[in-house]
Amino acid sequence: MDCLFCSIVAGEVPSKKVYEDDQILAFYDIDPQAPVHFLVIPKEHIVSPDAIDESNSAIVGHIYAVIAKLSKELGLAKGYRVVCNCGEEGGQTVDHLHFHVLAKRNLAWPPG
Ligand code: AMP
Ligand code: ZN
Repeated sequence: MDCLFCSIVAGEVPSKKVYEDDQILAFYDIDPQAPVHFLVIPKEHIVSPDAIDESNSAIVGHIYAVIAKLSKELGLAKGYRVVCNCGEEGGQTVDHLHFHVLAKRNLAWPPG
């Protein structure tokens, strides 16, 4: 399967890792949109949030638990934003489920 994030999980494409366990990987975004910007992905290939169902949804809770742990380790107590883009109009460019974590600047709302 030709998937950039599966290739990162496999170590075939390099990444700057923030966190890894048997289920998920977090790594810094190659084109950061904030002073802190990393992505958290399941190691399993899930195409998008639209492909989440009762059989694979537990990973989402685990991802959020790890984000909360990393926020403490990385000093993000002032706040951060978790973004999960879905599909073409949602701004998704890589078809492997990923959660952006953005921090260390004031983030505008509503998003563009
Ligand atoms: P999205 O637009 O929500 O699908 O987000 C995809 C993200 O992946 C973008 O923020 C890209 O900058 C990021 N990205 C693309 N290629 C890489 C890579 N090789 N390593 C790290 N981040 C990447
Ligand atoms: Zn994949």
